[in-house]
This record gives sequence, C-alpha cells and structure tokens, in this order.
Amino acid sequence: MAVRAQSSWQVRLSCFVALAVLLVAEARAQTPAVPPAGVDAALVEDIAVGSRVLAELGVLDGFGHVSARHPAKSDHFLMARSLAPALVTGDDIMEFDLDGNAVDARGRSVFLERFIHSEIYKARPDVMAVVHTHSHGVIPFTVSQVMLRPVFHNAAFLAAGAPVWDIRKEFGETDMLVRNPVIGKGLALALGDKSVVLMRGHGDVVVGPSVKVAVFRAYYTDVNARLQSQAIALGGEVNYLTALEGAKADTINLQVVDRVWNLWKMRSTAAPPK
Ligand SMILES: [Zn+2]
Repeated sequence: MAVRAQSSWQVRLSCFVALAVLLVAEARAQTPAVPPAGVDAALVEDIAVGSRVLAELGVLDGFGHVSARHPAKSDHFLMARSLAPALVTGDDIMEFDLDGNAVDARGRSVFLERFIHSEIYKARPDVMAVVHTHSHGVIPFTVSQVMLRPVFHNAAFLAAGAPVWDIRKEFGETDMLVRNPVIGKGLALALGDKSVVLMRGHGDVVVGPSVKVAVFRAYYTDVNARLQSQAIALGGEVNYLTALEGAKADTINLQVVDRVWNLWKMRSTAAPPK
C-alpha cells in the first residue's frame, strides 16, 4: 500500500516536471533572437542561414564557421557560439572584438579558431564576411603541388589566385589549428588580397563583401576543387579560365548572387531544437 502511494506521488511529480520542461522549451522557442547592439536582425539571420546552407550543401560538417564584420563597429565581428553549423540560429550569434574576445559571452563557449576571422578583419578592411571550411573537395589541393584554378565560371574568383598556407613553415609541428592571434595573422598574410586561401592539411578560408558572397564562394570553391580533380583525372592538359575571363565572370557572379542565395535560403531547413 505504501509502495503504491509513493508510486502515485512519483508519477504526479514526473508529470509536473515534464510539463514544466515543455513550458520552458516553448517559451524559449517563442523568444525572439536579440541581435548584438547596432546589428540588423537580417544580418544575424544571414550568418545563421549561411552556416546551415553550407552544412546542407556538404561544404561544412560538424566543423567550420561563418562570420560577418559588425556593420556599426568595424573593429568588431559577429559569429556563432561554438556549435555545429547545421544547428546555428540567430540566437547563437555573438559579438567579438578583433583580438577574439567575446563582448558579452554570458557563459557561452566560443570557437577556438575565431582568430582566423579576427585577424582577417584586421588585415583586410574590404572584407565584410569570412567562411572557414574543412571542405573535402579542397583538401587534396592543400597537400599536393597542383594549384586550385578555375575550371568553370561560377568559381571565377579563383582566377585571381588561391595560395596555400602551410602552418608548419611558420610555426613548426602544431595541432594544425589557428588557436591564437599570431597564427591567425600568418594566415591573413598568406591570404593577401585574394578571396581564398587554402590551409595545408586543414581546409580553406573564403572572404567576401557580404555573407552571401562569402557563402557562394565557399560553396563554389568546393565544387571547383571536385571538378578540377575530375578534369585532371581525365588526363591531358586542363584548359582553365584565364585571369581576364575570371575577372569578367566574377563581376557577373556578384550581380546575380541573390538568385542562388534566395534559393538556398528557401530550401534551408530551420535548425532543430538544441
Ligand atoms: Zn578549422
């Protein structure tokens, strides 16, 4: 009898706890994202959509990140707290200074490799968005002697060059991660004035004048790498786009980027509850 009474009490308590958890989860889901001060919610949403789109396109998996320069404070930037790109929502976007310090961390964990972003924003005033990937298509070009070059017009930006940065040449045998500002600066120097820099045995970094352009370039860098590998496998000389063809095609790509961005955004699924 005593056992039955206790069991009933436990059942009621369990129901109460479950209901409370549901109510809290619903309240959290209904709480609108509060973007960092001075930031348009649309930009925050672009960073989240860009992260999820690149995950859905297979360019990012559990790793990699998308960021944007703060529109009102050029010495600050915005990126998600540390989590898989497919799970990023507007609520996850944080503000950082160019030393990689979070402005208002509130206990949230941050990406170790945020210095990729901070040092590129420091070195390149024209850059408004940065994407870091571990793109599988690109990796072979980071470890071979074959340069990544444009084989089709959507990757025209590669005609300006895609240098390979080897962390070992500057910093010896490391864990391969851009884990501090000094290493980040070395990477930013290797990027120079280009749109893409490859990282030996690691991935790439792609920059642009907006989140949508950086995402576009990150995707087509991966696609071009896969297509170039196929063209090389066919044998014979590969007929790449010239520098002038690349410059002309890139101008058009920048004008029509909204078309593919809107498609990706429409198809992008909302991130599941975390
Ligand atoms: Zn990385």
